[in-house]
Amino acid sequence: EEEIRHLRNKHHIHTSGSDIPNPLRDFDELKIIYGVKDVVLHNIEEQGYKEPTGIQRQAIPVMMQGRDLMACAPTGCGKTAAFIIPILHHLKAPQSDGFRALILAPTRELAKQTLREFRKLSKGLGLRSCYIEKESTALKKSKENFDILVTTPNRLVYMLQQSPPILSINNVEWLVVDESDKLFEAGKRGFRDQLGAIYKACSSPKIHRAMFSATFAQDVEEWCKLNLDNVVQVYIGAKNT
Ligand code: ADP
Ligand code: ADP
Ligand code: MG
Repeated sequence: EEEIRHLRNKHHIHTSGSDIPNPLRDFDELKIIYGVKDVVLHNIEEQGYKEPTGIQRQAIPVMMQGRDLMACAPTGCGKTAAFIIPILHHLKAPQSDGFRALILAPTRELAKQTLREFRKLSKGLGLRSCYIEKESTALKKSKENFDILVTTPNRLVYMLQQSPPILSINNVEWLVVDESDKLFEAGKRGFRDQLGAIYKACSSPKIHRAMFSATFAQDVEEWCKLNLDNVVQVYIGAKNT
């Protein structure tokens, strides 16, 4: 207990919620505690990541347990790997059930960057990840059995709203909203409505959700408390409420 408290203090980890798992001491615990495959640990090492960052220490165990999460940590803290690693663990191997993980990013540039990190960390697992560039390729990709979809919300909503929909997200088990604070900002073409539509289309009973942001945003927190299931909140640094 004392050691866990010390570890959280040292990495400025603040949490709220019930039954929060212990933060990771190191990446080896991924294997020891959660049974993460050696190939994933190898990929982490290949990336030059020696120690988990604060957000990775606490957010990864929460997602490993399949809990809904609201995570907040400054830019540059490694939030991308914090959601990729547990998703890779949950998806395990390729399947033919369509997209099982969906990542929303505020810009195309960020979506592509996230896809690159997915590919690096998933080497050797056979999982297939994609970014949908154009509507015209969406249908094809939807049928090619990709496991992971990274996209901006606008184009996804557009494709979902066609009849019949251009792609299906009804087998998605993990929905991640990256930079949720940016997406919630006023003027982003009604992201709340878009998120509502995406949320509804993620109709699998196995759905888990995680929201990541760089700054604490009241509207994101309110949305999480209303829409997420027994959510765990993780903040790194001072919580400026
Ligand atoms: P954020 O989304 O929090 O702004 P990123 O996921 O973009 O941060 O990561 C920022 C940088 O830190 C990237 O270059 C990434 O490769 C690197 N990084 C991520 N995790 C670690 C780690 N555990 N150790 C060292 N570098 C890391
Ligand atoms: P984002 O930058 O979030 O991807 P865009 O508004 O650029 O959003 O839309 C991306 C793609 O989604 C467009 O290139 C188009 O194919 C499709 N799309 C989105 N909204 C519409 C719309 N109202 N009518 C036609 N196509 C749309
Ligand atoms: Mg990021």
